[in-house]
Amino acid sequence: MSLEALPAWLLPVWQDLRSRQGRLAHALLLTGPHGSGKRLFAEHFARSLLCQSPDEKGFACGHCPDCTWMASGNHPDFFCIVPAADEAETEEASEAGESTKKEKAKSTQIVIDQVRSLQASLEIGAGGHAGGWRVVIVDPAEAMNVAAANALLKALEEPSGNTLYLMLSNAPRRLLATIRSRCQVVTFPRPGKEPAFAWLDAQGIKNKALLGFASSLPMAAREYASGPLAEARSKLAADLAALPVKDPLRLAAEWETRLKAKGAAEAGLNMAVFIDWLERWLSDGVWVAMGQHARFFADFEDALAAQARGRSEAWLAAYRDVQERRPIALHPLNLRLFLEDLLVGVFRRLAVR
Ligand SMILES: [Zn+2]
Repeated sequence: MSLEALPAWLLPVWQDLRSRQGRLAHALLLTGPHGSGKRLFAEHFARSLLCQSPDEKGFACGHCPDCTWMASGNHPDFFCIVPAADEAETEEASEAGESTKKEKAKSTQIVIDQVRSLQASLEIGAGGHAGGWRVVIVDPAEAMNVAAANALLKALEEPSGNTLYLMLSNAPRRLLATIRSRCQVVTFPRPGKEPAFAWLDAQGIKNKALLGFASSLPMAAREYASGPLAEARSKLAADLAALPVKDPLRLAAEWETRLKAKGAAEAGLNMAVFIDWLERWLSDGVWVAMGQHARFFADFEDALAAQARGRSEAWLAAYRDVQERRPIALHPLNLRLFLEDLLVGVFRRLAVR
């Protein structure tokens, strides 16, 4: 499988790392929010180190035996450690039994057995198959449970000269401080608007408002655009835009159905997401009421303006109400009652008197 090209805004990070290649630490901590391109970058970097004849920018040639092994997922010097749930996603997709669900809940962690089997493989193949690099990706590093993290820490404390660990993290503060301190940190930037829009254009993504919705991370915007969440987002925005003329109780019933629908949770649609989106909608309303642009729902700015203009206080109050209810949102005793309470509350705040 050939890798997609590295987006332009990550090239400076690439060049910087390439220029330090002779003096790299044996562990790099790649940090940045989800969707900032860390994994793609790490895979390019791994391929670059393992390739026999990289091009002048350092990218793997794609043709040599090492590149061929990488492409088929069988390179003996490349290791990728991810939570078992991520690994088994496709196998488990066909089953939906209770036991499978429990299994999945457990395996969102990286466990010690995975680290031990990595260490065994590294020992057996000591030196790399051709005396070259060996590269280990851990993604995300914060998924390691304490035992796994401690086992990996040992490996970092006694590095072997040619093994490079690429630790990926959305939340580096959740890592053991002792692990963090052994890593060279590489921070992933958010691109400016122009390169981001250009990239989305090249990907054929028309709804540019998704960029703001994805906090200016184009790759996260693409994930929205290609997944089922984009439709849910538009539906919610349309419903909220119609809230003044729609019965909030009916909306609550409709969203209860959607949230409980088969496949909704797997697609990433849950109460935490719902309340997050509702908060974004209301904060956009506050912005628009104050004469600013909508940040998350730019494609609904007109509808927001029609409702919110001159009413920033009411929208701010609604926003605060929703924020207060956030802790309950994750574990509502009764989803329907919670949604009704939430939406009726918002409706009352926003109702034009
Ligand atoms: Zn190659």
